[in-house]
Amino acid sequence: MEKKQFQAESKRLLEMMINSIYTQREIFLRELISNSSDAIDKIYYKALTDDSLVFDKDNYYIRITADKDNRTLTIRDTGIGMTKEELENNLGVIAKSGSLAFKKENEAKDGHNIIGQFGVGFYSAFMVADLITVTSRALGSDTAYRWESSGADGYTIEPAEKAEVGTEIVLHIKPNTEDDSYDEFLEEYRLKAIVKKYSDFIRYPIKMDVSSR
Ligand code: ADP
Ligand code: MG
Repeated sequence: MEKKQFQAESKRLLEMMINSIYTQREIFLRELISNSSDAIDKIYYKALTDDSLVFDKDNYYIRITADKDNRTLTIRDTGIGMTKEELENNLGVIAKSGSLAFKKENEAKDGHNIIGQFGVGFYSAFMVADLITVTSRALGSDTAYRWESSGADGYTIEPAEKAEVGTEIVLHIKPNTEDDSYDEFLEEYRLKAIVKKYSDFIRYPIKMDVSSR
């Protein structure tokens, strides 16, 4: 499969995230939840003007699943999803809000400020994951696509199976190193605390499952 390259600016931000020593790396979850919430909002607003679309509250939620054995953290939503082109355009380039922040704060040369003040969006997940798999099916499409990247060396996109419209993001949590542990991002109490701290205002249900042997 062909590996596509990130744009130069994206690659720089990505490398910053991958090598981040930022202490508040927990904010990646805020970023992913906010993207999921935005994606559900898009269906909600579409339904207001599109009679063929019914927004039944019960069908719209965000689910966080931690699998300790496989060391994965999955964030799934029933939002509007992304087409192949959208996966490419939205995840293959620097975050829109982040991009602006990056340019504005460039003189500061301090990644901490950039992350703290503006958030860097989707790419912040590379602070805790060494492989990210995004499977998405856009509203109105029968086909799903899978975007995958292990960081700065690029990403792949291929057709995939997905029963429902929406997006599933699987983070392969980094292995622990001698002086750094990532285990906390697979712990239910910790994930719950992060959600409460940063995402309390999200207006869709955030469900959580944690499994281990
Ligand atoms: P921002 O949210 O500031 O635009 P992000 O890096 O967080 O930047 O996300 C980039 C884009 O990727 C979003 O604008 C959106 O179009 C798309 N995206 C990310 N996550 C999702 C998701 N869960 N569902 C649908 N689209 C998403
Ligand atoms: Mg975002």
